Amino acid sequence: MTRRSPATILAAAAADLDPALHGIAPPLWTSDAYRWADSDTKPDYDYARTVSPNRDMLADVLAELEGAAGGVVTGSGQSAALLTLLLLPAEAKVVAPHDCYGGTYRLIRGLEEQRRLRAEFVDMSDPDGFALDDAAMVWIESPSNPLLRLTDIARVAERARAAGAVSVADNTLPTPLRQRPIALGCDLVIHSTTKAINGHGDWFGGAVLARDDALVERLHWWSNAAGLNATPHGAWHTLRGMRTLSVRLDRQEATAGRIAVWLAGHDRIAAVHYPGLAGHPDAELARRQQDGPGFMISFELKGGETATADFLGNLGLITLASSLGAHSTLICKPATMTHRGMPPEAQAAAGLGPNLLRLSVGLEEAGDLIADLERGFAGIG
Ligand code: PLP
Repeated sequence: MTRRSPATILAAAAADLDPALHGIAPPLWTSDAYRWADSDTKPDYDYARTVSPNRDMLADVLAELEGAAGGVVTGSGQSAALLTLLLLPAEAKVVAPHDCYGGTYRLIRGLEEQRRLRAEFVDMSDPDGFALDDAAMVWIESPSNPLLRLTDIARVAERARAAGAVSVADNTLPTPLRQRPIALGCDLVIHSTTKAINGHGDWFGGAVLARDDALVERLHWWSNAAGLNATPHGAWHTLRGMRTLSVRLDRQEATAGRIAVWLAGHDRIAAVHYPGLAGHPDAELARRQQDGPGFMISFELKGGETATADFLGNLGLITLASSLGAHSTLICKPATMTHRGMPPEAQAAAGLGPNLLRLSVGLEEAGDLIADLERGFAGIG
């Protein structure tokens, strides 16, 4: 079958799941258990921690969008990451980017401290510039959170395969509408669906999608064994939010592009990180690897930490909060908010300074957002 466009997949998903009343929206099946016809014949749906029609419908949409064989819908992005790491035997080596999401860093380091795995955090900006000796898993996050650096996914996945390692891409920021890591050679894709996929800032969830059926089966086994699956309510709610992902991304990305250009010309700004800017070091890779530069921008202010505090204190429309991908525009200071799980030396190695701010552009009018940012700059003492 020819690949349907993402907008169509999202609009048409789960359209025929109400055999009783033929509702155009899927029902929410809240039962924790389902009746067996006899004690020896397990029905397709038996117990809701193990299997749920609402989780299946979300997993199917995500798998189709990612070009995956299937996947598992989890209770958060972090449980998706944990599920992925549960596939590894004890003391296996994970190679991960030193500028990854702070929660990923905290989880991998925490498991290392308990000697469950060995971790190496490396700079992935040169895809051939780090060793993969004896690696069992290679973790990719591109664009990275919060610095929006890109990794050449196809090259790193190729190297991981040659080294006998499983490659995983955290695709939360671009979403499958802007980047498809499995087509680029990755084995696993993880998401925090809390972010743009749900998109309304009102539910948290996650997912792991896999290239082949054997991996999908192992994910299901571990997710059931460890109880990491999402609730039916969470899966239903997330699919509802995801219906509009295509239009939201188009608008948020167009606004982010305008804001990034405006910020780059502002005299209060020391640096702007946005893959859609011609001056971004990975602008060419972004055009090749992604279907759009995305809705996230990070930037560094001139002046000391008081400049950052003054700027944030003067914003009115934009909210200081540590999430991204929501309907409204959110700003955060990664060093003390999203990435506080990283010790100062790890933050410094990743290039994450005290004047770095991360902006997740929402659905507001671009002019209103620019006026608010200008209000923030005007407040710097
Ligand atoms: N991956 C990335 C890139 C994130 O930004 C986050 C959260 O900010 C996560 C994973 C974790 O997701 P959750 O908060 O849903 O557990």
